[in-house]
Amino acid sequence: MLKGKIAVVTGGTRGIGFAVVKKYLENGAKVVLFGSRQETADKAVAALKEENQAWEVEGMAPNLSDAAAVAGALEKVKEKYGRIDILVNNAGISQSTKLYDYKPEEFDKIMDLNVKAIFYATQPAAKIMKEQGGGCIINTSSMVSISGQAAGVGYPASKFAVNGITISLARELGPDNIRVNAVAPGVTKTDMVAALPPQLVEGLVKNIPLRRAGEPEEVANAFVFLASDMASYITGEILSVDGAARA
Ligand code: NAD
Repeated sequence: MLKGKIAVVTGGTRGIGFAVVKKYLENGAKVVLFGSRQETADKAVAALKEENQAWEVEGMAPNLSDAAAVAGALEKVKEKYGRIDILVNNAGISQSTKLYDYKPEEFDKIMDLNVKAIFYATQPAAKIMKEQGGGCIINTSSMVSISGQAAGVGYPASKFAVNGITISLARELGPDNIRVNAVAPGVTKTDMVAALPPQLVEGLVKNIPLRRAGEPEEVANAFVFLASDMASYITGEILSVDGAARA
């Protein structure tokens, strides 16, 4: 579904991002994954290469809070592969501190990665995509961008912002043939959820109509679809993959 496409996936070293990278490779794309450290990026690449030597994948670790570093890394991808067809803004952190204990630095940290890093990566990537005649950007949102969250207000605030960026840029970049969509996962089995208290996760899962947490691969399927030509007329969409947990 993605034969010959060049993709960049931030937060591609584990969890949902890693599953996206793998599915993209299985579908014929060449992928550059961004990790928070070069060491973890290299490790993820080695694991993928072990699975299939023929997959074209490499790892980089620009500081996503540094606009110039992100732009520089994307320029390197363009220099090497000639283009960038797909940008997946997936790197993210969550937290669930109660409002009364919330520190301003915590709010900044969430916003820096979950929101500002999307802006830093999307601006240079969109310039490259415009020049080449089009492209596709997919942001990782969350079910909390619809339902909110009972603690840790910075996280849902950041994901509402992700939806705002997605819908607004779909409108702004549509004339340049750049589609912008988001995937809004529900409770998905990654390190992010493993870090939560088990009782909290059990309570969440009990209320999901499908009565189970999602697998990263199930979420990744939506990223394949949205990046493919099957979704050629879909832009500005927030696609929920959550077993109806948001309802
Ligand atoms: P994860 O913790 O397994 O993976 C997070 C990824 O982000 C990793 O690749 C990590 O290297 C990267 N990352 C974290 N901090 C970084 C930093 N400072 N700089 C660069 N990269 C950094 O989590 P996940 O569950 O796979 O989360 C991926 C995305 O999915 C996030 O945006 C998250 O908000 C979203 N999400 C997850 C769930 C869930 O239930 N797991 C639900 C909804 C949305």
